[in-house]
Amino acid sequence: MYDIIIIGAGITGTMLARDLSAYRLKVALIDKENDIANGTTMANSAIVHTGYDPKEGTLKAKLNVTGARRYEQICRDLGCKYKVVGAYIAACGEDEEEHLKILEENAVKRGIPYEYLSGDEARREEEHLSDNVTRVLNFPTTAVIYPWEVAIACAEVAVKNGTDLFLNEEVASIDKKENGYTVHTSSHDFETRMVINAAGVFTEKIAAMVTDDPGFHITPRRGEYYVLDQDARYVNHIIFPVPTPVKGKGVLAVPTVYGNTLIGPNSDFVEDLDDNGTSDEGLAYVRNNIGKTMKDVPLYRSIRTFAGLRPTSDRHDFVIEEAKGAPAFVNAASIESPGLASAPGVSQYIIEQFVKKYFDLQENPDAVMSREAPVILSELDEEARNELIRKNPLYGRIICRCEQVSEGEIVDCIRRVCGARSVKGVKKRVRPGMGRCQGGFCEPLVLEILSRELHIKPTEVVLDSVKSGILESENR
Ligand SMILES: Cc1cc2nc3c(=O)[nH]c(=O)nc-3n(C[C@H](O)[C@H](O)[C@H](O)COP(=O)(O)OP(=O)(O)OC[C@H]3O[C@@H](n4cnc5c(N)ncnc54)[C@H](O)[C@@H]3O)c2cc1C
Repeated sequence: MYDIIIIGAGITGTMLARDLSAYRLKVALIDKENDIANGTTMANSAIVHTGYDPKEGTLKAKLNVTGARRYEQICRDLGCKYKVVGAYIAACGEDEEEHLKILEENAVKRGIPYEYLSGDEARREEEHLSDNVTRVLNFPTTAVIYPWEVAIACAEVAVKNGTDLFLNEEVASIDKKENGYTVHTSSHDFETRMVINAAGVFTEKIAAMVTDDPGFHITPRRGEYYVLDQDARYVNHIIFPVPTPVKGKGVLAVPTVYGNTLIGPNSDFVEDLDDNGTSDEGLAYVRNNIGKTMKDVPLYRSIRTFAGLRPTSDRHDFVIEEAKGAPAFVNAASIESPGLASAPGVSQYIIEQFVKKYFDLQENPDAVMSREAPVILSELDEEARNELIRKNPLYGRIICRCEQVSEGEIVDCIRRVCGARSVKGVKKRVRPGMGRCQGGFCEPLVLEILSRELHIKPTEVVLDSVKSGILESENR
């Protein structure tokens, strides 16, 4: 019997799993995919918003601020990238400048640092800022992260502290019992006293397993992006247009932690909960709208496009509450942007409001909340590299030429707790395939290493989800 089952190993579920692992609780984290963070946490702008944007009085506003304040320390503890780049909200003309005042008021109330720049001052820092930009509100403490890196690291810590992780387990139905729930997945029946539903765009579907009235309706809102080559080095800060109620935060230019630039997203409702492919219309919207704040956008340096689904609901706020008629069944639903930035706040809120209601929390004396980060060869100086290669020659064999990733790093990321089980799993952890060639040279080698390390046939190695086989059959 579990105390708590968390459904969904995105940033919401994994952050909560890590925080809960500080206590003496029997916790399971379940996901239908073969890896951590294969849902919305995999495809977004990766910004730790400081909390100036959400409407006053909303849960989003409260948890964004508390979440963002915890992030830097969490990333330090987990050895994850946290790069403070600053966010420029770029106004074009008097009407938009007027709107900056609302964001400024929010920032003052919430204790968020900010400063104003004239259009010319901002252009001195950002040479590609459009000449139409007249004033900029800068939030200098805004950071970018690698969202799935944080989620994987949280899961790793939680598992080391005793959490059971079940991947490839799709929750198919849930029975209400007198003192808890039975969660039925594709291959197990789990008994638990409490359920936290953190299933992203699928939260309504999961909630409907225990209640006739989930109290919210999710319609995914798709966002699509271009990824520019690292060498393009297009922006230093995140550049936002002034937000609008209809199109949200608008089309941005975002420097990533590894120096690529994201251009996007659009914001289009879709019906299908799995519809995370890009579209001609969506990308055209991005191309046509980035010019509002930016000029000379080098879209010809694009190496990839991708899309993510925001779990948008009709409640226009995070919905974190017990399901109607289902005590100790907590929905963490409608966690759209700034859900990534808010995750540490969401986790604390769930523990304070709901977990403490049902459990007398005792600290787990053996819990270790930090982890040793994986080695990134390309970030070491020559002496440290040579030392590593002397100890383990696999670090001397470069598999990904674009990102300079060695076989040693790939093997380590497969063998670690919560290790990679797919080509994309390896790519998420140590980046082969993230560069200009997008895996053209390294993918067959990564496939071979996965096959060897997991003791499976090359034909059994998958690209991403369990159904995404790569090789059809063996030839002579
Ligand atoms: C385009 C876009 C841009 C964004 N930009 C930002 C940003 O810059 N900053 C920010 O703070 N936020 C941003 N967000 C929002 C942020 O990405 C999300 O709020 C966050 O990732 C949600 O995480 P989650 O864990 O709740 O959901 P998910 O990451 O979707 O995780 C849900 C998990 O549940 C699993 N699951 C679903 N159904 C089942 C089932 N039946 N059984 C078992 N498992 C199941 C899924 O496989 C998935 O792994 C953006 C979102 C999008 C789409």
